[in-house]
Amino acid sequence: MIEQPYVYRHKELVEPDWQRLPGWADVSRQDWASAQWQRAHCVKNIRQLRQVVGGGLDERFYADLERDQAERATMSMLVPPQMINTMVPHLSPADPGFSEAFYADPVRRYMIPVFTDRHADWPSHPLASRDSLHEAEMWAVEGLTHRYPTKVLAELLPTCPQYCGHCTRMDLVGNPTAVVDKHKFTLGRDDRLSAMMEYLRTSPGVRDVVVSGGDVANMPWPRLESFVAGLLEIENIRDIRLATKALMGLPQYWLTDEVRAGMERLATVARQRDVSIAIHTHVNAAQSVTPLVAAAAKAMLGTGIRDVRNQGVLLRGTNDKTEQLLDLCFALLDDAKIMPYYFYMCDMVPGSEHWRLSLAEAQQLQHDIMGYLPGFATPRFICDVPYVGKRWVHQVARYDRERGISYWTKNYRTAVELGDPMALQREYEYYDPIHLLPQAGQEYWRARVATPASVG
Ligand code: SF4
Repeated sequence: MIEQPYVYRHKELVEPDWQRLPGWADVSRQDWASAQWQRAHCVKNIRQLRQVVGGGLDERFYADLERDQAERATMSMLVPPQMINTMVPHLSPADPGFSEAFYADPVRRYMIPVFTDRHADWPSHPLASRDSLHEAEMWAVEGLTHRYPTKVLAELLPTCPQYCGHCTRMDLVGNPTAVVDKHKFTLGRDDRLSAMMEYLRTSPGVRDVVVSGGDVANMPWPRLESFVAGLLEIENIRDIRLATKALMGLPQYWLTDEVRAGMERLATVARQRDVSIAIHTHVNAAQSVTPLVAAAAKAMLGTGIRDVRNQGVLLRGTNDKTEQLLDLCFALLDDAKIMPYYFYMCDMVPGSEHWRLSLAEAQQLQHDIMGYLPGFATPRFICDVPYVGKRWVHQVARYDRERGISYWTKNYRTAVELGDPMALQREYEYYDPIHLLPQAGQEYWRARVATPASVG
């Protein structure tokens, strides 16, 4: 009998042994379970990474990382112990091959990028931009993006407990790096949040609020609870989604008594008012789904919220294989009760070319995962097209594969086109990574870059 392309086997979740890492050899289970301990021991620089892995990585890796931080990185380094521990989970730094395995590790590839990961000729697409989705242009009030007719995105704060190399909000989120300064909010936090609330109170067409950042796990809980409680008082708001990668990166936070009790209060009010609260997290690799992550997700579901869903990002070297994606989705679904929901194509921010997939690759992956997961848990693969919004990858209107230009249409106006009669007739472009194009396509882009006005 010929084997299926993907063979499902239920796999037990595993919490890798953090004591295999020399820097954490004496860390107790109690400390590991503490959100404060995790936050205090995040790896923020090369010196701290050296302390954690001891002599496990060769000097080539550190030099590669240092060069990336000096010349390419758009996000500063911030990796919680929980995430470091899921890198190369089966080897200890003393084992032969640890350094090579660390280089190749799917979580390392996007959380601790190094210079040689990036594409040498095209580290950035010539049309890449810092706020590639133009969210700030669509701010109704500072930090509140009104892109879709019925939905808004509230960026409550510009920080996270972990910083991801490919972050789509690299313009705003995190600390400045050697090559990127960050946009700063002009209003103070409480004034910004009050202005958002006022806008929502006077916008009856909005029914759905994505409460994001950054990551809501960095908002002091009482302030987050009061913001969500305020949303629950607005009659037209029916869906509230809290965006937190920290459910995976810092599950210890979501397991604290303060957060569990507070979420239960919010869920109780939400149920009384027929409003759905969900948590949206961001997991990109199966090895990130550990028993602690599952416990955090189930603790949140236990408070009575509607769902916990995953919005991953397709990243070359992390999850660009069918098997990796299906392993991740089954790990989320089987034991963590997290619903696979979306996989986004990586946005066109600077430095992301080596991570990005072409539209054709994303279409193929969507094709290849169909039929294995339950339909309700089969994630859609999404291209977030600038000035359009999320489109399923098979919704493309036209696709020039030679030049890697896909053309998309839309059926609503974003906030910047409310007076534009042609907005729904126009086609909007998205671009494949140039290094994947046939020779003729690459030459087209080289010629276009040589005429700067055509890429401005
Ligand atoms: S957690 Fe989300 S917002 Fe924060 S750095 Fe990562 S991708 Fe960006």
